Amino acid sequence: MPDYKQLERPNYFFGKLLTADDFQLEQNYQLERSRRNNRFLHGWGIVSGLSVWIENGATVVVSPGLALDCAGNELVLATPERIALTSLTGKHFITIRYQETPVAPQPSTHGEAEFARIREGTSVELTSTNPAEDHRKMGAGSPGCGLCHALCLATISQRGSNWRVTPVKRSILPRNRQ
Ligand SMILES: [Zn+2]
Repeated sequence: MPDYKQLERPNYFFGKLLTADDFQLEQNYQLERSRRNNRFLHGWGIVSGLSVWIENGATVVVSPGLALDCAGNELVLATPERIALTSLTGKHFITIRYQETPVAPQPSTHGEAEFARIREGTSVELTSTNPAEDHRKMGAGSPGCGLCHALCLATISQRGSNWRVTPVKRSILPRNRQ
């Protein structure tokens, strides 16, 4: 049974004292709604792009694209990602994970620097295990498990001196499958 969390949003009135908590609550409300819509109206999976291929037998390339993870986060890869295949053998999974990075440090009233912004991004990785291994009956297009974990785009396996790429079909949203 999914956990349907009830939300709270700020109520504004003339003369109200606004603090960082109010702005944070406003932001959290919008983020939670967006993630819940993504999860329960669309489900997790690749929306577009994020193709994987091997370049010159030595580098994995992932094309720009968009996906949704099991927590409803948008995984946006804006530029191609390249990973060198140095000293790797066997079978590996190419994964993409939602990642937030605090940026723009500024002085604060309590003396220590605080980050003024959070940059939303993704991290593309080579792993030896499939992050969605225990997702039986929770395929792409379903709300998934609710956790913010990596999504598998393809597997690569070594065939002699060559690498073979197999896209993970069940990671693609059902309406985009061909
Ligand atoms: Zn999951």
